[in-house]
Amino acid sequence: MPPLRIYNTLTRTKETFAPLVPGKVGMYVCGPTVYDYFHVGNARTFTVFDMVVRWLRASGYAVTYVRNVTDVDDKIMDRARANGETIEALTARMIGALEEDCARLGLVKPDREPRATRNIDAMLDLIAMLEKKGLAYRASNGDVFYSVRDFPGYGKLSRRNLDELRAGERVAVDDAKRDPLDFALWKAAKPGEPAWPSAFGAGRPGWHIECSAMSCRELGVPFDIHGGGWDLQFPHHENEIAQSEGALDRPYVGCWMHSAFLNMAHEKMSKSLGNFHTTREVLDSLDGVQGGEQLRYFLLHGHYRSPLSYGRDSLDDAGNTLRGFYATLREVPPEAAALDWTQPHAARFRDAMDDDFDTPAAFAVMHELRGEVNRSRSGELSGVLRALGATIGLLQADPAAFMQGAVTLDVAALVEERIAARKAREFARADRIRRQLEAAGVALEDKPDGTTEWRRK
Ligand SMILES: [Zn+2]
Repeated sequence: MPPLRIYNTLTRTKETFAPLVPGKVGMYVCGPTVYDYFHVGNARTFTVFDMVVRWLRASGYAVTYVRNVTDVDDKIMDRARANGETIEALTARMIGALEEDCARLGLVKPDREPRATRNIDAMLDLIAMLEKKGLAYRASNGDVFYSVRDFPGYGKLSRRNLDELRAGERVAVDDAKRDPLDFALWKAAKPGEPAWPSAFGAGRPGWHIECSAMSCRELGVPFDIHGGGWDLQFPHHENEIAQSEGALDRPYVGCWMHSAFLNMAHEKMSKSLGNFHTTREVLDSLDGVQGGEQLRYFLLHGHYRSPLSYGRDSLDDAGNTLRGFYATLREVPPEAAALDWTQPHAARFRDAMDDDFDTPAAFAVMHELRGEVNRSRSGELSGVLRALGATIGLLQADPAAFMQGAVTLDVAALVEERIAARKAREFARADRIRRQLEAAGVALEDKPDGTTEWRRK
């Protein structure tokens, strides 16, 4: 296996990846809270770790990929109440939608998707171990808290100043905590809330204990990679470390990976496209079969540790770029052959991916290779292009079918929209529409009187 280097949030350095068992990788990613369709920001996190899993597998590792489902939580209870449905009905509906949307995004199904409500026993075991070690205490309000002051390593992942954090914590009126940073492991039952019997009294688990218990149960501790969105470093992942290492007295995770935010750009959206925020809405607004791959390409075109701006223009650019790749694959049919990593483009692609999953550099190699295929008309090189795409879940659709979708655009409506944009002097929008039409094989000719004629090339 070639050396792979991954940025470890815990050490703040790129490290050579060395799994605990050679050739095998255990990976846990914090999954969604199923109270609504998932946000396109979550789609970035899931797509990034999907890319990581695929690349590890393409590199020869046997990966066990675990992504949990949080199906008990305040947001879920509130939403179920607002909808007038049971928690079970809401979470079942949202888990169904999650599976559909993940499939549309082309995400590989995790090997295991443990649900919080089915792992309460493992959480209670962990809480009991923490209490025995003096790391958990029962508070006057019936909740069980983690005692942050009694875990010396607290703060090592997020490297926050704990005293500043303490000062910043609002003190609740009936605060039962010993330290403002202590967090609930078990919440005493309240009327109308789901509750499970336990040695600590009837109640429900806190959010953080869920991930410690399910990752320990599914992968054993320590395991190789723990992933999640950037914002989970504190307090969620810090608390996971405190719980798991505090209870088990051994390191919890080898490498912590965090994907950066998807910034929602406040760009002016065209009326026909709308301003969408759930992954489902975004996918619905895109062209059928290609939409999932278009969103995937967009989400991976920036480096996973750099913030990415979500905007309709960049999403459309991703679609145009993909159509360009598929046009090449249609014109120069790829020869099927095993990927030869000594082929120069393949070698550079691998170097990029092995350097902390540098997808922008890997995509640049694919662009160059596409140019090479167009020049040489080499089916062999076209085959390399397609095979490289496969390692990260791209370019596997039938090129003819993919391009077919592109010409189902409502050309007349887009031409009108472009004329309106030009009149309003919104030239960036007008250019974007022109690029979109050209990529779909439509030629435009602007007339001196402000009208535009178009024909299919
Ligand atoms: Zn988690």
